[in-house]
Amino acid sequence: MIILNFILFSFLVFFNMEYKRKINEVEKYNESLNTKEIYIKQLEYELLNKNDEIIEKEKLLNIRLEEVKKYNEFKIAYLTFDDGPSSNTEMILDILKQNNIKATFFVNGHPDQKNIYLRMKNEGHTIGNHTYSHSYAKEYKSVDSFFLDVDNLNNYLLSIGIDKTNILRFPGGSNNTVSFKYGGKELMNDITKESIKRGYKYYDWNVSSGDAAGSKVDKNKIISNVLDGSKGKNKAVILMHDSKVKITTVESLQEIITGLKSQGFIFDKITENTEYNVKFK
Ligand code: ZN
Repeated sequence: MIILNFILFSFLVFFNMEYKRKINEVEKYNESLNTKEIYIKQLEYELLNKNDEIIEKEKLLNIRLEEVKKYNEFKIAYLTFDDGPSSNTEMILDILKQNNIKATFFVNGHPDQKNIYLRMKNEGHTIGNHTYSHSYAKEYKSVDSFFLDVDNLNNYLLSIGIDKTNILRFPGGSNNTVSFKYGGKELMNDITKESIKRGYKYYDWNVSSGDAAGSKVDKNKIISNVLDGSKGKNKAVILMHDSKVKITTVESLQEIITGLKSQGFIFDKITENTEYNVKFK
């Protein structure tokens, strides 16, 4: 009887242990199920967020696509004025205002013309960086000396309340040869690469007014240079100058605008979204 009781007891102990083990196992299993459920919820949440991100990106892409379509549909002329501001810039701003046109000014450092920079900004034109000094010998010595000159202008503009511009035009253009003399043949290549690295977009031109060919180029010559150069183009980035001596540029501007209009152009200013790398013709 004792033996039988012992055996029975042993069985009971055994079954009890086995029962506890099973309960343990089930609990562990439940726990791991919980962990998995949390993990799946986490994934679901992340996926929902990703979905939002994708929808957001898709929206931006569609907006950009519309911009590109619009850009391609129209003949656009970008009037650009380099080397100012000067007293001539005021007259240019007046003409632009009368014609309701926004343009782009690639400016240098002229602290005596503070109010004109501000007028450019207040009237909605683009201000691009054309270096502070515009001195080939100074800025085309090295990549560093070039960007020092760019920063000098940024700092000056900031000091009068104009935000840093990411739009750049190299004095002499991106494929100038004048820099060879000071910084070697590879310098422009290095500078253009560095400018992209620093977040700048640089713009050359594909129509030259030729107003820099002499101190007072004949007004009619400037007009015909522009209107001949723009013929057959869908996008015309027109190079002009608004430095102190360029009086004939001012005198030619209204006829240039009228002529471009009759060629079917509308006008716009350069912005960071403007297609860039417009090279020389
Ligand atoms: Zn220039």
